[in-house]
Amino acid sequence: MANKLVYLFGASQTDGAADMKNTLGGKGANLAEMCRLGISVPPGFTICTEACNVYTEKGGDTVRQMIEAEVRQGIAFIEKEMGKKFGDANDPLLVSVRSGARASMPGMMDTILNLGLNDEAVNGLAKKSGNERFAWDSYRRFIQMYGDVVMGLKPEKKEDHDPFEVIIDKIKEKKGVELDTQLGVDDLKHMVDEFKALVRNRLGRDFPNDPWEQLWGAIMAVFQSWNNDRAIFYRRMNEIPDAWGTAVNVQSMVFGNLGETSGTGVAFTRDAATGEDVFNGEFLINAQGEDVVAGIRTPQQITLEGSRRWAQLAQISEEERRAKYPSLEELMPEVYQHLVKTETALENHYKDMQDIEFTIQEGKLWMLQTRSAKRTGAALVRTAIEMMEQGFIDEKTALLRVNPDRLNELLHPVFDGAAISKAKPIASGLPASPGAATGQIVFFADEAEEWGAKGKQVILVRQETSPEDLRGMAVAEGILTARGGMTSHAAVVARGMGKCCVSGAGAVRVDPKARTMSVDGIVYKEGDWISLDGSKGQVYAGQIPTQDADLSGDFGKLMELADKYKKLEIRANADNPEDAKVARNFGAVGIGLCRTEHMFFEGDRIKAVREMILAHDEAGRRKALAKLLPMQRGDFEGIYKAMDGLPVTVRLLDPPLHEFLPHDEANQRDMAKELGLSFEEIKHRVDELHEANPMMGHRGCRLGITYPEITETQTRAIIEAALNARAQGATPKVEIMIPLVGTVREFNAQAKVIRDTAEAVFAERKEKIDFMLGTMVETPRGALVADSIGKQAEFFSFGTNDLTQMTLGFSRDDIGKFLPSYIADGMYEHDPFQSIDQKGVGLLVRIGVERGRSVRPDMKIGVCGEHGGDPASIAFFHKVGFTYVSCSPFRVPIARLAAAQAAISN
Ligand code: PEP
Ligand code: MG
Repeated sequence: MANKLVYLFGASQTDGAADMKNTLGGKGANLAEMCRLGISVPPGFTICTEACNVYTEKGGDTVRQMIEAEVRQGIAFIEKEMGKKFGDANDPLLVSVRSGARASMPGMMDTILNLGLNDEAVNGLAKKSGNERFAWDSYRRFIQMYGDVVMGLKPEKKEDHDPFEVIIDKIKEKKGVELDTQLGVDDLKHMVDEFKALVRNRLGRDFPNDPWEQLWGAIMAVFQSWNNDRAIFYRRMNEIPDAWGTAVNVQSMVFGNLGETSGTGVAFTRDAATGEDVFNGEFLINAQGEDVVAGIRTPQQITLEGSRRWAQLAQISEEERRAKYPSLEELMPEVYQHLVKTETALENHYKDMQDIEFTIQEGKLWMLQTRSAKRTGAALVRTAIEMMEQGFIDEKTALLRVNPDRLNELLHPVFDGAAISKAKPIASGLPASPGAATGQIVFFADEAEEWGAKGKQVILVRQETSPEDLRGMAVAEGILTARGGMTSHAAVVARGMGKCCVSGAGAVRVDPKARTMSVDGIVYKEGDWISLDGSKGQVYAGQIPTQDADLSGDFGKLMELADKYKKLEIRANADNPEDAKVARNFGAVGIGLCRTEHMFFEGDRIKAVREMILAHDEAGRRKALAKLLPMQRGDFEGIYKAMDGLPVTVRLLDPPLHEFLPHDEANQRDMAKELGLSFEEIKHRVDELHEANPMMGHRGCRLGITYPEITETQTRAIIEAALNARAQGATPKVEIMIPLVGTVREFNAQAKVIRDTAEAVFAERKEKIDFMLGTMVETPRGALVADSIGKQAEFFSFGTNDLTQMTLGFSRDDIGKFLPSYIADGMYEHDPFQSIDQKGVGLLVRIGVERGRSVRPDMKIGVCGEHGGDPASIAFFHKVGFTYVSCSPFRVPIARLAAAQAAISN
């Protein structure tokens, strides 16, 4: 059927399959696939993503007309599979309605359970289940969820409680009980009346009693939720296109809350925090799925081993654990065995770590979901390597499994060893997402954003988090919740973001109204500092310094594997011996850019640079340069030694002059004293040097051409340092690079100064050393005349920062004013300074490469702009035939992996 919009799944018929994610969304496609594998899944149907797009573009009426007949057939199919009737007063079919996009977006969109219950069906459910309490509890849950999600009944103020919860609390108070489970049938009936009255009073209409009206309301609400704020924000953050839309899954309910032989849970086939190959997860007896995700009750562990580990962390004795929190393995050994068989079958089938949801209804296991599990960067690396070693996947697949940017998390800080050894935790919770974080306490997500925008480091502290907190979580250093397990919303989302999170810290009492949290009677206020260890689940008072992580094991194996496949060489941009060492440790095979002007920012050096810039004539400049020469020579020596045997590209001075000049009176007076000049003279000279647009001004090789003595001094420092380093046993491989070249004449003029100076040094020292002489390609003209420049220059390094600036006409210094809104408005898809504009700037790059190699076929070509560390740009540079990319030291591992992926995918 050409316009099929609804796909059935169940034991007797399944229309979809795992490879139909674009149409059915991830959840729908995997439900279909599980049915095909013969796994017991409650029957249902998936309304495809295209219908969501129709809803967004043309509205609810149009889409309803298009899908109405198929939805009716879908319900008839479920009725037949389950032997129940929708809206039946004797044995009603109840359904869940859930979103399911192509990419998983945990908690971002809406879910409705128990749909189909009404004043008649509730009695049918009571009769059929023989459990009147369960029936009324299901009914009140349904009204609560539907009232919130579909009818939009939210707290009126952010500090207020959920209006339904207020009613529940009142009834409990009147009854003198603490838990919902202690309420009787009459209390629940009363609750249903109160809930309905709340709906009527707040909305001026009745809660819908007709199951079909309920169903259409729910379907439309799911479509609508594709465009709620948090879903949009999540999409932006994860680069999920708006046009994908969400599918809607309508599925028969199964019940985890039918008593002590029922339950519900979430499990991972491996450990989502560390990647360790242990089946693990949590469940709740006599509960519905949302109870686990919401993190309101403390869940129990599925495996015995996991349960023991958990008890140890929570400081619970083995006796208490067995009595109060036994594992599923102990409680229901048969169901547990079935679950283990199913999770193994799923992992074997998908050949990837799975995140599964299940319900046990009166001893029978039903699978509700399976999907590739979200995991930390460390777990991503470990599962990729181990699944390869276990023979599930080949080397290329293992490499492609790891998103290079996620390696960032492995470079994440841990607490400083000495500081943490002295610190005592004030509370412990679950190690929900690893890393170390330190920051000031805030209690509301929007305030986390406000504080974050002011440059403060914050820890978001919540009773439990909800999807509305997403933005606040994104800016926080870490997240602490008093409630919730490892699969609670906070934990799942934090892991996805690679953000440190401790959840379920039960000893922490959060009082958002008073803006305080207390532990053992000690009160911590908003703004107080705390620190979190997300790997151990511990909370500390005060600010604890952090330090960088240690990289070895699986990470090392992944890097080795990447090197086997990548074609591009990875170099680093480094301006001092320390950075060079870090880069080399991370696997850099050379320095692609040493910005010599960066060597002058420290201490007294700036004075000598200022003296040089402010000098009126060559003699003045030479005097200042003589002071700079030994400093530069020393730095170069250190860098050559750190990079022993590997190439080091030193770029001649390219200072935007304004960055070095003294602009305020105090500094100008200081400078005047230093140079023995009057303040007025200095001020006048600074004014004289003022440029309207310094980025396009007297910088790069223009400086060396007007003041050749600068190039001369720098060349002397570069060559003398190389000779010195060699005398000390190192093997320097020197590459000198001329910046901002637009015409071959500029190159030739500078090349002559460099070669003459080098010869002079060789004559003085009576020894020689080889060096290469190349250029940056960073002006559009430089790229266009790359054939004429390429005849002279021995290598090219694309300066894509300037090339982007000049090609787009976007000043690098001023983009902050317009680029964010430009990107939000879709003028550019992404920040062109972060990921290369392949169509525009990329065309100049292609032309530059083609023309350069037309005259020098084996020319070494690389990039040293920021794009050298961006995976998408690296794929592009691979495609156009670069020899290397050069990026900041901490991005070297990311670039190595991205280069391997580029080679594999091309
Ligand atoms: C560039 O322009 O890409 C470059 C690397 O040089 P800089 O950022 O120092 O201008
Ligand atoms: Mg540049």
